[in-house]
Amino acid sequence: GSNDIAAKMEERVKALGKEDEIRVIKTGCFGFCEKGPIVKMLPDNTFYTEVTPEDVDKLVDKHLIGDEKVEELLYVDPVSKKRISDSDHMDFYKKQERVALRNCGLVDPEDIDDYFLHDGYTALHKVTGMEQQAVIDIIKNSGLRGRGGAGFSTGMKWQFALNNKADQKYVVCNADEGDPGAFMDRSILEGDPHSIIEAMAICGYAIGATKGLVYIRAEYPLAIKRLKIALEEAKESGVLGTNIFNSGFEFDIEIKYGAGAFVCGEETALIHSMEGHRGEPTTKPPFPAEHGYNGYPTNVNNVETLANIPVIINKGADWFKSFGTEKSSGTKVFALAGKINNVGLIEVPMGTTLREVIYEIGGGIKDGKKFKSVQTGGPSGGCLTEKHLDVAIDFDSLMEQGSMMGSGGMIVMDEDDCMVAVSKFYLEFTVEESCGKCTPCRIGNQRLLEILEKITKGNGTEDDLRKLKELSNVIKDTSLCGLGQTAPNPILSTLNNFWDEYEAHVKDHK
Ligand code: SF4
Repeated sequence: GSNDIAAKMEERVKALGKEDEIRVIKTGCFGFCEKGPIVKMLPDNTFYTEVTPEDVDKLVDKHLIGDEKVEELLYVDPVSKKRISDSDHMDFYKKQERVALRNCGLVDPEDIDDYFLHDGYTALHKVTGMEQQAVIDIIKNSGLRGRGGAGFSTGMKWQFALNNKADQKYVVCNADEGDPGAFMDRSILEGDPHSIIEAMAICGYAIGATKGLVYIRAEYPLAIKRLKIALEEAKESGVLGTNIFNSGFEFDIEIKYGAGAFVCGEETALIHSMEGHRGEPTTKPPFPAEHGYNGYPTNVNNVETLANIPVIINKGADWFKSFGTEKSSGTKVFALAGKINNVGLIEVPMGTTLREVIYEIGGGIKDGKKFKSVQTGGPSGGCLTEKHLDVAIDFDSLMEQGSMMGSGGMIVMDEDDCMVAVSKFYLEFTVEESCGKCTPCRIGNQRLLEILEKITKGNGTEDDLRKLKELSNVIKDTSLCGLGQTAPNPILSTLNNFWDEYEAHVKDHK
């Protein structure tokens, strides 16, 4: 309904002859999906939730003209039952720190001037006056690790690409977000496309590349539309093209479309897909930094990783490290979904606990039900339980508990969810998405699925549970790429944490 609200608002402002005083801006996602559509009034920061087109006249006449808040559209705090007008005081936002999402819900993604007004392209301007190594050192010192799931040092990746000498290099933005329930990268591209363009250009300058490629899912039409507009505007404004900021630096970006294959999120498969080949991973080394797109050194970063770059350049590595933990600096964006009161897009400092995310930001479990599990890391992640609620969210702690950060999907389950069915759901997804290149993943996961189907139909035995575990470990150890290596994680973590549920399904359990 947001488009209708914006259109009606523009109409009302025009009818009142106030176009010179009131500007209606259509922004990207505010994150609080549960309470959308949201209208935020500036400069006083009044945050209206669950607005409908019928509320528009009231909002314009009473708030903007009459300078009086429309009480009935203000958010009601679920505990105190008081109305709150400032999002900073809402439990959903209190513990959040918006770094990658800093411009989502603030700038007009279809207007480069609005991005300029919010420090847009100042980081690119700054780096074009610096040595390449100095730029990479800032990123290295910031401790930024890849937000696509692997958590590798971004600065080190850039360093490898700089060190490999070639007459052509590429910067690739991985926007092939494919985890079920994940919408972090889509929201960043829809809400702040210029920050990604700026970051790619900064990376291009740092590693010595003149060409950028955005590999984006064709199923993201709004993100594609806004990216295209942003690219056009960037070229027209001279922040892309030749002799950027009179520095002699040249950089251009092209869009490549993905056809929805989950495995193409893996960087070697993504590069093959862009080259027009089958989207299949290959063994590493050689890494893309050495032999990437069309055989040239290529640096691949995902959308969220890139979204952090301009602000790190502008505010410094120490500022970025002031968020998060020693080994996982900064923040992480999560798509919070499932049986939770506040479904939405959130960004928290690394080190925030699962309990804080689920009970404070997320507002607890829907309909007063009991919490059962939270799945982090998408289909490659694991299902954690109540005993893990105080685990700090960072790359290493989640891994130690049998799950992983992944790209940022976080799905909450309640007492009604069957964990055997949950692991079967994720496995169905990975079986469907396996590229079929290597045997453990192609055949092993299919066998796991058959066992799970047998168990969920009530025909399984205790020996099937043993086989599930054994085969899962073999697939983890022997698959070629991350998809196969992590596909059994939901099974292994649920076997570990919900063994009694598996036992309850098998017919020979006494
Ligand atoms: Fe393909 Fe799966 Fe092997 Fe990866 S692990 S190469 S997705 S078959």
